[in-house]
Amino acid sequence: TPMIYRHLGRSGLQVSLFSLGSWVTFHNQIDASGVREMMAAARDAGVNFFDNAEVYANGQSERLMGEALAQLKWHRLDYVVSSKFFWGLDAGTAEKPRINGRNTLNRKYLMQAVDGSLQRLKLDFIDLIYCHRPDPHTPIEETVWAMHNIIEQGKALYWGTSEWSADEIRAAYDIAQQHHLHKPVMEQPQYHLFHRSRVEREYARLYDDMGLGLTTWSPLASGLLTGKYRHGAPAGSRGAMQSVSFLRDGLLDADRNAAVQRFETIAQQLGCSVAQLALAWVAHYPRVSSVILGASKLSQLEENLGALGVLPKLTPEVLSQMDAISAPLAA
Ligand code: NDP
Repeated sequence: TPMIYRHLGRSGLQVSLFSLGSWVTFHNQIDASGVREMMAAARDAGVNFFDNAEVYANGQSERLMGEALAQLKWHRLDYVVSSKFFWGLDAGTAEKPRINGRNTLNRKYLMQAVDGSLQRLKLDFIDLIYCHRPDPHTPIEETVWAMHNIIEQGKALYWGTSEWSADEIRAAYDIAQQHHLHKPVMEQPQYHLFHRSRVEREYARLYDDMGLGLTTWSPLASGLLTGKYRHGAPAGSRGAMQSVSFLRDGLLDADRNAAVQRFETIAQQLGCSVAQLALAWVAHYPRVSSVILGASKLSQLEENLGALGVLPKLTPEVLSQMDAISAPLAA
């Protein structure tokens, strides 16, 4: 099935409906050659957006993506790379925190952080930069000016937010509008069958008011929506990893796993896997610009990109069956 491209909100930039992210996987589960191979397979399938962040594997994820891009030598118009800033790199310890480089969106941190990412990614500019979380201790005006200045310096093209509240996003937009600065273009929220209200309700007015685009994360709820956690966390799966043990309770939740089994029945009727059904459901939402996929193996990426072929099968009847299962459990 050919890739579909959507505009990133009201911007002129087009991103593939399915994109590839690197959280948890790059460096921790996939080495340099695996990363190159996975990015090449994604690109062959029409993926043009690759998501990253400063904090992923403490900089190693950006390094691996940068190495792969240098070797793959794609035309610079054929790919969009993102990074995100907030937690900081080598952010010190609990006793000796690097106070101006940790959990912040202050101007000093942001200006320095983007330079570090450019070096690790080996790029002249980053297409999309995100404020990875809101920072209640920095005036939004300071952050908006810093993002604007980074773009003016030619180090990034578009900026946006990740997991900001609708009020915070609107405040940033209004400040940018008032001072004729580059406006936030996109938000990166969690969105999947068990996590819906922010995208479907909280942000509802922002889509038309400011042309907000969405690049959404964890479409499979970290793998829960593949059905693999029904009998506990399989060895080698994300649910068995110590470094992300905070995910375990959610992945092993009995009610959610029972719901996944019900989605599986629908998937069987449509002739697809439950993962493909769950991914197509996210992609179906018209406000979603790109669904960021995660994969620890090439075979997972291949299966997940097959969700494109499931999109036409999401009839109003199928969607309402899915809604009946999802709505009572979704946050
Ligand atoms: P998913 O919810 O899709 O989870 C991906 C993981 O599920 C894989 O790494 C793999 O883990 C498992 N999996 C995926 N497909 C299959 C399959 N077909 N069969 C079996 N297992 C499968 O997405 P992520 O949570 O990885 O998020 C995607 C991207 O979103 C990230 O890479 C990142 O770029 C972005 N993100 C952004 C955040 C933000 O705050 N802005 C937060 C989180 C993610 P395993 O094999 O190890 O079990």
